[in-house]
Amino acid sequence: MIVLKFGGTSVENAAAIDTVVRIVQREQHRQPVVVLSAIAGATNTLIKAAHLAQEGDHEQAIRLMNGLLERHVVILENLLESRSVIQLLILEIRRRFDELKLLCQGITLLGELTNRSLDAIASAGERLSTQILAEALAERGMPVKLVDARSFMITDDHYTSAAPRFGEIQSRIDADLRPALQSGNIILTQGFIGSTSKGITTTLGRGGSDYSAAIIGAALEAEEIQIWTDVDGILTADPRICPDARKLKVISFREASELAYFGAKVLHPSTILPAVQKNIPVIVLNSRKPDSTGTLIVSNPPKSNIPVKSIASKKGITVINIQSTRMLMAYGFLEKIFAVFDKYKTPVDLVTTSEVAVSVTIDNSSCLADIVADLSLAGDVLVYEHKGIVCIVGEEMQSTAGIADRVFRALRTTNVMMISQGASEINMSLVLNEEDIEAAVKYLHAEFFPVSQTGEILETVHHETGR
Ligand code: ASP
Ligand code: MG
Repeated sequence: MIVLKFGGTSVENAAAIDTVVRIVQREQHRQPVVVLSAIAGATNTLIKAAHLAQEGDHEQAIRLMNGLLERHVVILENLLESRSVIQLLILEIRRRFDELKLLCQGITLLGELTNRSLDAIASAGERLSTQILAEALAERGMPVKLVDARSFMITDDHYTSAAPRFGEIQSRIDADLRPALQSGNIILTQGFIGSTSKGITTTLGRGGSDYSAAIIGAALEAEEIQIWTDVDGILTADPRICPDARKLKVISFREASELAYFGAKVLHPSTILPAVQKNIPVIVLNSRKPDSTGTLIVSNPPKSNIPVKSIASKKGITVINIQSTRMLMAYGFLEKIFAVFDKYKTPVDLVTTSEVAVSVTIDNSSCLADIVADLSLAGDVLVYEHKGIVCIVGEEMQSTAGIADRVFRALRTTNVMMISQGASEINMSLVLNEEDIEAAVKYLHAEFFPVSQTGEILETVHHETGR
């Protein structure tokens, strides 16, 4: 058994869905469960319409709904062959939208939008996309069985970010999904959506379809989970900075997690945790290149001859330096400092300390003035804005001598403000001036991934320009 998850851009129009159909067909012999997102932009539109309704702009909410209805109609008219199926499906989809519009009307009348209502509306995108794909698969002669995720994805009632109830999900998947798969059906279901045990619709939080796929894959002990998206996989650097960035064939879960903070637009590693815990390989693939190999994410990748896997960066970083002679030989100082960040719900990313000073970085500076005011009670505070972080990630950096030497030689003309590398960490992070970030990434990439370098895990890819 395998899980095939397709994101919004993989089903954004009829041509994209056609590719999905071909991928499912190709994998049919492996007993696939297909997990689908809403068509690209649908969830955003639905949520926006709900908010407009609440603000009393019922007309604009209806306009958005009609636009979305039209997109679905265009898709199925271009995708399906049978006129009668198209007619029936259009009727059905119109009925769904009538319901959505009624919901919006209710919200406008009440002037109130609860999270529960929001989930009822936001979940529509996945319910629509799966219905369209189900017809397309059936029309191509595949034994598809559309299963409403709300029949097995049982969650608590924290609407808009509901937590799955793993035990209950497991028993329902064992009772219903597994036998259906074993008797030769292709199971198609919605990502992102679930239901309370009382049957009220919930969602797992934005981008939750990857999580759905991992939960289903883990419950079925799937052979693998394929996450189909619109990027080639995980690369050695951002191709907009390094056009010669290469694709990694394999990466560890820990490496992928480090890179996620830097906005590697691939997937959020915490969402695949259920799969990782069961050692189920997760592969990220590009549905615009259905024959490409993607990047495999595993808990324990084989040892490689490449100590550094990727170079990531992030701008818009603020460094806060707190200096105090009171810190000398004292304890409890760090606790006081971190309590301030806790109070203002501001995550701290990098930390370095010396005997008399602590430096931290934050990327959310919305409470900066308050934070500085509170920290000033503990010492002298200096703030440096417009900084950036360059991060070098690789499992085997720890066990390879000479990495730091290569990093600093590559950056010999760059002013480095802060350095952080922990004892068992798989990354080294450097804080630089924002304007030096791109050059630094280029220098480091040239050092660790010279064009001549080959390796089991590196693959040259053609990057589309303009992305
Ligand atoms: N459609 C949902 C969203 O846009 C879930 C997903 O795509 O993963 O957040
Ligand atoms: Mg998505």
